[in-house]
Order: sequence, then C-alpha cells, then structure tokens
Amino acid sequence: MLPQLLRHRWMDEDIEAFRDQVRRYITGELSPHLDDWRRQGFIPREVWRPFGQMGFLLPELSEDYGGAGASLAYQLVVQDELAKAEFPANTGVHNLAAHYILDYGTELQKQRWLPKLASGEMLAGIALTEPGCGSDLKALRTRASREGDHYVVDGAKTFITNGFTANLLVVAVRTSDTGSRGVSLVVLETEGLPGFRVGRRLEKLGQHASDTAELFFDGVRVPADHLLGEKEGEGFVQLMSQLPYERLFLCVPAAAVIERAVQLTVEYTQQRKAFGQAIGDFQNTRFKLAECATIAHVVRSFVNDCIQRLLDGKLDQEAAYMAKWWCTEQQGKVTDECLQLFGGYGYMTEYPIARLYADARVQRIYGGTTEIMKDLIARKLYA
Ligand SMILES: Cc1cc2nc3c(=O)[nH]c(=O)nc-3n(C[C@H](O)[C@H](O)[C@H](O)COP(=O)(O)OP(=O)(O)OC[C@H]3O[C@@H](n4cnc5c(N)ncnc54)[C@H](O)[C@@H]3O)c2cc1C
Repeated sequence: MLPQLLRHRWMDEDIEAFRDQVRRYITGELSPHLDDWRRQGFIPREVWRPFGQMGFLLPELSEDYGGAGASLAYQLVVQDELAKAEFPANTGVHNLAAHYILDYGTELQKQRWLPKLASGEMLAGIALTEPGCGSDLKALRTRASREGDHYVVDGAKTFITNGFTANLLVVAVRTSDTGSRGVSLVVLETEGLPGFRVGRRLEKLGQHASDTAELFFDGVRVPADHLLGEKEGEGFVQLMSQLPYERLFLCVPAAAVIERAVQLTVEYTQQRKAFGQAIGDFQNTRFKLAECATIAHVVRSFVNDCIQRLLDGKLDQEAAYMAKWWCTEQQGKVTDECLQLFGGYGYMTEYPIARLYADARVQRIYGGTTEIMKDLIARKLYA
C-alpha cells in the first residue's frame, strides 16, 4: 500500500463520488473491449458518445456549452482513471482541443462546437506536427491562403492522435510568412471534406489502442469564420498560453501509471517464487520497490500541488515544464524497474506491466520533449 497523501483542498467528497462513478463506468463498459481496440488500432468514435452523455468528456464546461459547470479537477480525475485502466491519450487530446475553442473561440464558434464535443457527437484532434517539424513549431509549412470568405489549406501533418477517428480538428497553419507571427489555428469539420485525406495509421511501440495518423490537406476549403479567434497570426500565442494546462495534463497519467506499476509489482513478487522463496523476499526487490513507491509518492505530491495551483490560477509555465519532464521521466524509470522484477513475463504483452512500459515511452516525447522542457526552464534561469 502506498502511504496516504495529505488531502488537498481540491479533493472533496463530490469529486471522490464522481471518481467512483467514472471508475465503475470504465471497468464495466470500456475495459472489456480494450484488447479488441488494441488489436484493431483504434477506439471507435461512437464509444465516446455514451461517455459524453454520462458527463465524463467535458464536465468542466459550463451548462451553456453542454458541460456541468464543474472545476477542471473533474476532468483530471477522468484522465487519472482512464490512465489507471491503461487507456491512451485520446480523450485527453479531445479535451485539449475543446479548450482551444473555449479559450480563443468566438461566441458563435463555442456554441457551434462545444456542445457536440461535450456530448461525444464530435471527437477532436489537434494537428500541429508536420513531417518536417515537431519541436520547432514555428517552422510549420501547412498553408492557409485566404480566398474570399474561405481559407484554402494545403499541406501535411503527422503523428496526429485521433487522426483517424476525429471528425473535428484544430489545425495549426501558416497564414503569412512572418515566422511565429504567421501561425494561426483553424477548425476543420472533416467528415466528407473535399481535399482532406487521412493517410496511414502509424504503427507504434505502445499505445496500440490509440490511432495516430498522417493527414493530408489538398486545396481544402475552410470557411473564414473557422479561424480560431478574431485575427490571423495569433496561433502561436494561443498555443503557448495553453501549455501549462497541457503539460500538467500529461503528468496526471504519469502519476496514475507509476502507482499502478508499483501495485502490480508488489502483487506479482509476493506470489512468484525463485530459489525457494518469494521474489519479494529478496532484499534487492524490496529496495527497488521501496524506491519506486517513494517516487510514486513524490510524483503524486508534485502533481497534486500543480493541480491546486492550476485551480487557483497560479500554475506558472516553469512549474508545468518541470512537472512535465520530471514526472514522465519517473514514469519511464518506474515502469522499467518494475518490468525487470517480472523477469521474462514482464516482456510479454499479455502482462499489463509490459504494456505500461511500452505506453510510457512516448510521454517523454509528445507534448514537448524532455529536452525542450529543460531548455525552457534553463532559459528562465539565465534570463
Ligand atoms: C504517439 C504520438 C502521438 C502524438 N500526437 C500528436 C498530436 O495529437 N498532435 C500533434 O500535433 N503532434 C503529436 N505528436 C507529435 C509530437 O508532439 C512530436 O513528436 C514532438 O513534439 C517532437 O517532435 P519531433 O518528433 O518532430 O522531434 P524533433 O523536434 O525532430 O526532435 C528530435 C530530438 O531532438 C531534440 N531536440 C529538438 N530541438 C531541440 C533543442 N532545441 N534542444 C535540444 N534538443 C532538441 C528533441 O528533444 C528530440 O529528442 C505525437 C507524437 C507521438 C509519437
């Protein structure tokens, strides 16, 4: 058992009751299908419809936009429970896309898309990365040229989560050649959209239930009022302003997975025997698990602190960068150490620890790599 953490102000009884409800739904309705979804390489969009109708997709939206007017903590609790149950980042990306619309959309845009995103009628993706650029987003080349009351979008994106299943995309495009000031965000409703094509569903090391796809835009006509916000050229600032929330968003699954890995490994090492004793009786095993349990505790404390700061409107960029790289690196370390204690079984994907290990690897890459996080922290140190 991990030690109990101090109760933060954000953890009240209503949130815990909501957490139970979410957990029961995931266990009863979603988890039984997860192996099939892994095999086929995606979770069908329709799965998220009842999830949305239960109020689990975007509880933090106001009732006007189809939510429950709850705090962001409710969303983070949903992500925590999904991660514990080995679900990949699909609803997380959906949530982040909705927050772009919530924070930068015009009233008309919010009315048009948010209720459908909350109900699960629409599933969203965010398309920033291109074959030629990921970390260095201001180098992006997908272009949106204004023609009358439309933009014409040409270019390609890659590694897009929900790229195959989404029917709404927030896409970063170049509206002028002025570096970061030439980047804008546009919203595309992709069903039956001429010129839009989903390329390969990419085969990955882990996160097999999540669809990660290439996207192609060939003269795609988008109504000019699908530009997010009022003016062209605000995309880069919009992207940067969302980053503390986005980065914290990836730390919640890190904490959840670390805890699950420790729990699974304690259970396994109690029943597996070698040299006439339980693996868990070897001092090495006990020390390794003591270290992992300590990491679990420290990660959870840090994440809880960041959640509290986020809810208080005080989560600064640097704390979010630190949390992103450090918690996800710990996730990699703990899943690796725990896998080792399973011996050969740890390498078999039928064992959850093998999947947690493989799924964890990308956490240090997407949402800003560890190196980029450290670079941003260092810039502040030397400012
Ligand atoms: C499974 C998966 C899902 C994804 N989902 C999405 C999605 O939904 N939407 C989306 O837009 N993107 C998505 N991505 C893309 C992801 O955000 C990028 O892969 C990531 O930002 C890194 O970009 P890159 O792959 O181009 O690597 P690069 O930018 O080419 O980096 C390569 C290496 O160089 C290092 N590096 C780069 N610049 C510096 C620097 N200045 N200093 C030191 N080191 C540096 C990096 O840290 C990295 O180690 C996803 C990726 C994966 C693998």
